[in-house]
Amino acid sequence: VTVASFLKKQSYATACSGKWHLGLGWSLKNGRTAAWPDRAKTEPHNGGWDIDFALDIRQQDQFAVIYEEKYLDDKKIGEGDILAAQFVNQGKVFNAIRHTDGNYYSPKGYSMRKAFLRSPVDFFRISSKYNPNRKHPVLKTSRPHRGVDYAAARGTPIKASGDGKVIWRATKGGYGRTIIIQHAGIYTTLYAHMSKYNSKVKKGTRVKQGQVIGYIGTSGLSTGPHLHYEFRANGVHKNPLKVKFPNVQPLNKQQMKDFKPAANSVLAQLESYKLGTPLAAN
Ligand SMILES: [Zn+2]
Repeated sequence: VTVASFLKKQSYATACSGKWHLGLGWSLKNGRTAAWPDRAKTEPHNGGWDIDFALDIRQQDQFAVIYEEKYLDDKKIGEGDILAAQFVNQGKVFNAIRHTDGNYYSPKGYSMRKAFLRSPVDFFRISSKYNPNRKHPVLKTSRPHRGVDYAAARGTPIKASGDGKVIWRATKGGYGRTIIIQHAGIYTTLYAHMSKYNSKVKKGTRVKQGQVIGYIGTSGLSTGPHLHYEFRANGVHKNPLKVKFPNVQPLNKQQMKDFKPAANSVLAQLESYKLGTPLAAN
């Protein structure tokens, strides 16, 4: 009889842009995207990340993580969680640390998660931007484009950009197969031209951020497979790529008592890896 010994070891990885997509793909594949704030720009007032990994990455940007590797009887059986991550984006340093609640926070306790995803689909390219004065590609008349078009392969999953309740799931004129989600407070989001819906998502269903609601298609008035995505606040269209998202609650004073020493320790660890002289992991 052998007693399997299960162990978690720390490991360190680093990358710079150029190889970036490889690194990101790797973390996506291992289901660790939670380590990464979901897309957008920096929010200087609270120190949280708001970086769009598809849009804001520049040459010279750097990326480092401490993550766990799982071992069983000295044999590596998989990757664990990212414990801390550092991203140097356009010269600015951003740190994210995993808390015991499984979420990631800046050293000051601000959540890495935003109430909304900047882009609700993994896309090839943005085929049409938000533009109140656009000529419609099919109708050839002046028609405002009140959303963003993300070109992606037919069948690519479309995710709910935030927690909410489905208030529309049906064909809607030129939008084709469409879902509208009502979010907390003043926000709604719309997803159009789907090939099909997630069969578990119906009108009235409560959805979580990141949950698959449907799949890329070209239903309705559309020239090729893409997601047409709209974001509204108080019924008024906003540019989904520019709108400032509300933040998730930061850690409170009591939670910071546990978080701060752990965060300082793992960040010191990260710095020591970067210098090539890792501290003993505990
Ligand atoms: Zn569109």
